[in-house]
Amino acid sequence: MKRNEMLIRKLAREHVLKESEFRELIESHTEEELQLARSLAGDLLEETYGKRIYIRGLIELTSYCRRDCFYCGIRNGNRNAQRYRLTEEEVLSCCRTGYELGFRTFVLQGGEDPYFTDERLVKMIGRIRQSYPDCAITLSLGERSRDSYRKLYHAGANRYLLRHETAEEEHFRKLHPEGNELAARTAHLYTLKEIGYQVGTGFMVGSPHQTSRSLAKDMVLIHDLQPEMVGIGPFIPHKDSIFSDCSSGSVPLTLFMLALIRIMLPEALIPATTSLGTADAAGRELGILSGANVVMPNLSPMNVRKKYMLYDNKAYTGSEAAESLHLLKESMETIGFQVVVDRGDHLSRISEDAADTPLRKKEGR
Ligand code: SF4
Repeated sequence: MKRNEMLIRKLAREHVLKESEFRELIESHTEEELQLARSLAGDLLEETYGKRIYIRGLIELTSYCRRDCFYCGIRNGNRNAQRYRLTEEEVLSCCRTGYELGFRTFVLQGGEDPYFTDERLVKMIGRIRQSYPDCAITLSLGERSRDSYRKLYHAGANRYLLRHETAEEEHFRKLHPEGNELAARTAHLYTLKEIGYQVGTGFMVGSPHQTSRSLAKDMVLIHDLQPEMVGIGPFIPHKDSIFSDCSSGSVPLTLFMLALIRIMLPEALIPATTSLGTADAAGRELGILSGANVVMPNLSPMNVRKKYMLYDNKAYTGSEAAESLHLLKESMETIGFQVVVDRGDHLSRISEDAADTPLRKKEGR
């Protein structure tokens, strides 16, 4: 057996590799080995979750951000970015629409916007929790204080997404201005876990200055953290960023990394991200066929979707749009998967809302 095949099979057996082994695999895998990883990832996904695809309604709360991550289209310093904030009523109206469509998880995502104080968020989350007690509330609002995370958790939020973006110090400094620290970012992830959130992290594949060493470190960080969710997608440049002339990340490499993550963490919830669907028209389906099992269609009001441009040409219509759920269902069916729209009332080995599954299973709930 060839060395890379041996490493992929070892990962499937032991769910861990050394950093140097990940690096070797990432650097030198062949097309055949990519397909082997995707196939093993598919088998593990089916064993753990069956052929179910879980949907989350994405509500893009604010395009204001106090930070200046170099790659991001809505960073503070981009004077061309269009700014907006949703009101509490608008958010509740998105939830209402989403609930009617069958969504049982709402993801509130936004830049680090000081307008959204704990007080405002606690009130908003409390109202969502009260109106939709059967729904999960996921936050993706950047770094906040421990006290803030705690308040939002007690207001009813269950999950928090905070991508680490790169687990290599030097690379982190090339993607972020001074004052942003990888160690701080990692500490936030552990704090969120400690508080009780189900945690998601992730990174871009092919971001400027990324090497196989940084990707290997990403895998080690994810293994150590054992997050419930992992989101990865190809880097796509934004025209108003210093990386505007850089090439997009490779779709095949993204699929390989995705497959390795599924093999390493069989229970993780892994989205086929919008960036994957933007980089390749068939990206979302390819992602599912490489081990992803979550799709997050956009539930934001139509008039703001264009303003939340993290990278160029970000998709927000067609099957990326919550209101076109039927398109998503059809496309998943063509590849043999079924979109799970609501909890249903039958008993199954796992909860219909799979995002609850790993934690609940661990806690014996
Ligand atoms: S990546 Fe997030 S934190 Fe960084 S500038 Fe963009 S929205 Fe702000």
